[in-house]
Amino acid sequence: MSGGIHWTKRAAQQLVRYEALFHLLEDIQAVESIDDIARQVAAQWKYFANVAAWRLVVENDGGYLVIDGVRGSAQVATEQALSPWDAYHWERQRPERWSMPEPHYNVAPPKHLAAPAISEIIVLPVVGAGRCIGLLSAAARHEPFSDMDQKFIRIFGGHLTDRVSGILLRQQAMQTLIDKATYDALTGLLNRGSVIERLAGQLAVARDSGLTLGVISGDVDFFKNINDTYGHWAGDAVLREVARRLQAQTRALDSVGRYGGEEFLIVLYPCTAQELAQAAERLRRAIADTPFAIDGEVPGDLAVTISLGTASTTGQAQIALEALLKLADQALYRSKADGRNRVSAAGPPDAED
Ligand code: GH3
Ligand code: MG
Ligand code: MG
Repeated sequence: MSGGIHWTKRAAQQLVRYEALFHLLEDIQAVESIDDIARQVAAQWKYFANVAAWRLVVENDGGYLVIDGVRGSAQVATEQALSPWDAYHWERQRPERWSMPEPHYNVAPPKHLAAPAISEIIVLPVVGAGRCIGLLSAAARHEPFSDMDQKFIRIFGGHLTDRVSGILLRQQAMQTLIDKATYDALTGLLNRGSVIERLAGQLAVARDSGLTLGVISGDVDFFKNINDTYGHWAGDAVLREVARRLQAQTRALDSVGRYGGEEFLIVLYPCTAQELAQAAERLRRAIADTPFAIDGEVPGDLAVTISLGTASTTGQAQIALEALLKLADQALYRSKADGRNRVSAAGPPDAED
């Protein structure tokens, strides 16, 4: 060795452990998926600390992400509530050290942390802005954790928690943006752009499959009167309830969208012409048959109705999206002209033009 440094075996071993720590820190920085991070940690942790099993809990969108690891494998799960072990330590917000196997602990640890050869468990809460945002439990096998083990676990645990919660926060922010762009804020239905996008996609599938696609265009009757009589707020509540009933009356595969103010568009695929007529009638009745509860200034039950128009790709598989929507709108217009609270089906395109 140059420079007269005398390497002891112990120092060399320590250097190897530092290297292993930095290696893993780099690795978990380089991947974006939490599953991949969990796998890396499970594979490499043993190279710098005597961790036989571990659990990391991180806050996740009102619930918790829980990663359970042993040497060589890890499992990622989403939980709505904390286990008693995690809740106990989450609350206390301070590090703990439990000797095993004597049951000194107040609550039982998760099974994989309480295996026969486990000598102790250390629990490290990660606190940010005065609250717990993550919790790491790490179990040692045979020997208790050395001072160096503990130091490494503290350093690494903090980084791991930050990394995982950073990814979760970014994922949530991204999801919020996607939801905002996809769903209507008032009713939670697909917004106009999204329902048309679904229609375009399913229309293409229908062309290839030869199966029939149907659309239903709906418009609440005399909705302006509801606003004028009960107020805009009550009108909003009626729209939310209309949306809920439409959604409840359609299959999971169908797309229900808010097309405009009090106008709705439903895409049904696959759907025969007969099923389409039945579906539209079911929607009409879901609105008309049960009065709406209004708790504004004028309390009482409010009769609401909807007019509907249907159009389907039967016998005209190549019909353009705009033409199909126009047919449904024309049928809807006929329902309005014929007295509202009814369903009209579009005739063949030639007859309409
Ligand atoms: P018709 O039976 O011919 O459809 O009559 P209508 O009163 O339903 O139709 P009109 O188009 O005259 O009125 C629709 C009303 O819907 C006017 C608009 O102020 C109201 N509206 C549109 N969007 C919203 C909304 O988000 N909330 C509330 N409360 N009202 C809305
Ligand atoms: Mg309208
Ligand atoms: Mg209307």
